[in-house]
Order: sequence, then structure tokens, then C-alpha cells
Amino acid sequence: MTSTPAPSGKRSKSAGSPRKKHRQVLPTRNSATLARRQDTMYELKAYAASDDSSRGRIHEEPEAIMRGVFQRDRDRVIHSAAFRRLEYKTQVFVNHEGDMFRTRLTHSIEVAQIARTIARALGLNEDLSEAIALAHDLGHTPFGHAGQDSLNKRMHEYGGFEHNLQSVRVVDMLEEKYAAFTGLNLSFETREGILKHCSRANAAMLGPLGERFLNGEQPGLEAQVANIADEIAYNHHDVDDGLRAELISLDDLQSVESFREPFAEVTELWPDLAERRVIHEVIRRMINRQVLGLIETSQNAIDQRAPGSIDDVRAAGAPLILLSENASNRHLELKRFLRANLYRHYRVHRMTLKAARIVEALFDVFSDDARLLPRPARDHMADLEEADGAAGRARAIADYIAGMTDRFAIAEHERIFSASTLT
Ligand code: MG
Repeated sequence: MTSTPAPSGKRSKSAGSPRKKHRQVLPTRNSATLARRQDTMYELKAYAASDDSSRGRIHEEPEAIMRGVFQRDRDRVIHSAAFRRLEYKTQVFVNHEGDMFRTRLTHSIEVAQIARTIARALGLNEDLSEAIALAHDLGHTPFGHAGQDSLNKRMHEYGGFEHNLQSVRVVDMLEEKYAAFTGLNLSFETREGILKHCSRANAAMLGPLGERFLNGEQPGLEAQVANIADEIAYNHHDVDDGLRAELISLDDLQSVESFREPFAEVTELWPDLAERRVIHEVIRRMINRQVLGLIETSQNAIDQRAPGSIDDVRAAGAPLILLSENASNRHLELKRFLRANLYRHYRVHRMTLKAARIVEALFDVFSDDARLLPRPARDHMADLEEADGAAGRARAIADYIAGMTDRFAIAEHERIFSASTLT
């Protein structure tokens, strides 16, 4: 992370014209110090997660030859089928709306980038934060929150549907790749980080992984970092995507302090800059500020509490990765703006409504007639039904639908319900 460079002095419409030689901007002392601190051989702090203090995997395995515990977790996530499907899943915009929008895959990569920067600056385990960030959305349904709400409604009498818990189901049991075990057999710390929220009722059934929700413990700092990096990433990229989709405008955003200030700076420095560049310049400044502020505030909180181990972090009673009060208020202001102007925009609402209908119709039709399910999903249903009766049967349908991408769900709905599609 470097400080924002001063403009070159020359003002041109396309600031990056390749023919013009730009004056090299030297880093300030501050950013040079930070860069030194971020040397690749940085030292893990006592409160960071480490291979030695890991609570291990569900199934015992020999250690990897060249990789640490959390590197291996990250690699397993990247090679999973659920990770690849994130490319065709979305949060606010349906996947086929355009190639320029974020998908859950690019979102997860952005979260990982932000999380790694924070983790490294604080002397935390960067591999673990990265593994959690890349895995955190694996359990997301098609169509983002609309899909999750619909499945939750249909699963009401069977413990509901929570996407964080679904991500754990994916890595613990739904991925089928390894000879010796089901799932990815990730470390406790990665699974702890993936399970960001959990109801008490579900936590009680999860054994050691659910305990912290029952006795008020915190997850490790790497999980806290991934959690907050998720929020930073999606708030800012929703601004970017919302502008691109013309659901919100630069004028609307003037009511948001964290946007207004960098916007004024950028437009004063480059009055003729093309709008897309202005937007990017502003958003990168917003992210940069929030991340640098978060690192400073969190380092102070850690220093004050002085945890000697990851277990001290877990017992700290409150998160130690946090924004300052001022930054937190600005963050909330941006979230409120997005809720009112983007997530409740009539075009988004229209899409949400259709998405809900698709997911609910698929759930109902599979419940009525399991012969519509492909073989592996039917086998999965038979297994869960044997163990859990009607609840298992419903869970298998939720697993199948949650695994669908946006476009697969739309196509499947078409195949089942459209009279003109007879195959
Ligand atoms: Mg996310």
C-alpha cells in the first residue's frame, strides 16, 4: 500500500497518455516505512494463527511437503468446484447483465487482496486470511440475498438456510475430491473464519466449531480481518457497479461524506478527467483510507489488549480488528446510502422478485417430484433422508439449489416450466 501519488502537474483528459513521460513520484517516508515493514519475510506476531497452534483438521493427514497448513487450505479452496462456480454467481446484479460487473469470484479475490494487506501489516497469518477470504462465499445461493432468503423460507421448519453455514457444509461435506475423506478437510482456523455468523440453534449442533457462538468467544484475528475486508470490498464495489449500471449517480453520492471528500480532491486535481477515471480514483482513495485507518485502529486495540496467543484473542470479549468511531460512522453512512438507493432500486427489486420466484419454484417442484433431480443429487437426497427423514430430504434440495449458478438456475427453471422446452 502506497500513499496516493500527487498528480504529474499536466492536466489532460486521459491522464495516462502513453506518450507523455510522467514524473516519477517518490514515496513519502511514511509509505517507505510501511513498505519495509511489508517485506516478504515479515514476522508473525504471537497473537497470529500459526501451524504450531492450529487446532488441526477433522481427518488426520500427513503434512504437506512444501506448504504450511493455511497455504494448503487456500490451495484446496482454489481447486474446489464451488470456487469455480463463483464466477457465475452474483450479489446485486444477475450474472448475465454484463461482463463488467463483479461476480462472487472477483469479489472474493478483492476481499482476499484487502485481507492480505491488512493481515501482513499487522503481522498476522496472511495465508489464513487469504484462505478464509477466498472461501467465505462458497455457500452462497444463486441470485445473492434473494436466493438465500427464499431457501431460508422454504427450509424454515428444518433449521433454515444460512449461507455462512452452507459455506462450511461445502468445505466439510459437499466437495467430493479426495480419496481419504469427504469435503476439503480444512483446518479448524479456516473453518472458524468461514463461519462468520451462526444461529445459536445451529451452533449447538456444530461441536467445537459452534462453541464460540454459545459462549461469546471471538474468532482469530485473521478471521476478523477477512470479515471486515468483505465489507470494505463489497460496499465500495457496489458503488462502482451501481454507477456503471446507472442505478445511482455521482450527484446522489454527494450526500455521502466518505465519497464527497475524495471526489472533491480528485476533481480539483484533475478537473478534466474522464468520468470513469474519476470514479476509480475516488473509490481507490476511499478503500485506501479505510484500510489504513483500520490498520492503525486495530494495531492500537491489539497493543492495548496485548494478547499473547490466538486463544487470548478468542477470549478477548470483543473484536480487535476494528474501525475508528469516525470511520465506522462513515462506513454506516455509505451502507445506508446503498440500501436506500441501490439495493432498493426498483430495477434491483424487480430482479430480486424474479430470482425469488425461480428459487422457490425449483424447491417446490423438486420436493414434489424427486425424479426431476439428476442422479448425484438424488443419491445425496437418499443419504440425507435415511439419516434425517423429511429434514434430510429438504436439506438435500437446498444443497442442490444453493450449488447452482445464476444462469444454471434460470436455465433449469426454463427446462422444467417452459412448455416450449421439451428436453
Ligand atoms: Mg462476501
